[in-house]
Formats: sequence, C-alpha cells, structure tokens
Amino acid sequence: MEQDYQQRHTEAKNVYQSVIDGYMASACPCAFPRFRQIAGINCVDSGDSYCCFDTELLLALIKPFFDVSPSERNDECANEKWVCKTCGSEYEWGWSDFSIHVNRQKLALTNLRASTIGKAAGKPIPLYLGLFGHSYPPPSEMRPANLEEMAAYLNER
Ligand SMILES: [Zn+2]
Repeated sequence: MEQDYQQRHTEAKNVYQSVIDGYMASACPCAFPRFRQIAGINCVDSGDSYCCFDTELLLALIKPFFDVSPSERNDECANEKWVCKTCGSEYEWGWSDFSIHVNRQKLALTNLRASTIGKAAGKPIPLYLGLFGHSYPPPSEMRPANLEEMAAYLNER
C-alpha cells in the first residue's frame, strides 16, 4: 500500500510540475481559475476535517514562485502571506493540525491581480490523490479522476 501511494505521488508530482511549467511559460498559476480552485481547497470552509493530497502537492510545487512573509493573521497553527512573484496576487497561507492523524495547508486568494487565462472552475472538483481525514464533502463537490483528466482540467483555456 505504502509503495503504491509513493508511486502515485511521484506520478502526480511529474504531471503537476509540467502543468505548472506551462502556467509559468504563459503567465503564472494565478491566471488559471482551476488551479486556484484546487490550490484553495480548505476543509474548514465546509466544516469538515480532511487533508487534500492534490492541494498539498500543488502548494509544495508552486511555493518557489511566491514571496513568502509573516502574516498578520493568526487563525491557523501557522500563517504566512504569499505574493506571486509574477503578477503580485496575494494569498493567505495557513497550516493546522486537527488531530495527530490529520493536518492540512490552505491557500486563500485575497487579492487577484492576474488576468484570467484558464477556463472557469466547475464541480465536482476532480482529484487524483484525493482526501484523507475524519469527515468529507459530498460527491457533488469532489470526485476521483485519473492524471490525464487532472492535466486536461488544469490546462484547459
Ligand atoms: Zn500570479
């Protein structure tokens, strides 16, 4: 099981990195609403308690493209202000643990400065790595998808 997850994670990392490379070649991630949607998944918004592994991976991959500084907010266990180095869009990053088993990052857009290039986001949100936690949103909100679907969804203009 563990090895299987590692392989899925490595495959997802390669595909998401190529998606982000494409974003950076034409603008920045902020210009893509579907990227913002998945990067912005926050279980607290629906009163749930889970980690979205697709969100965690995307945030790890895009962090080098942001200037990170201390945040004035303190509503999470850790708070940071992320500013896109390309367009100057501002986000509030947060990290909290809900139990010894479940913790998650969130990236909430607070000031969009990019012109939109990508196609509008829809629901249910496709996810490849998926969720782990104590309570989940209904299937109308999120659904399992393969990596080809993920790349197509994130790249569509
Ligand atoms: Zn940007």
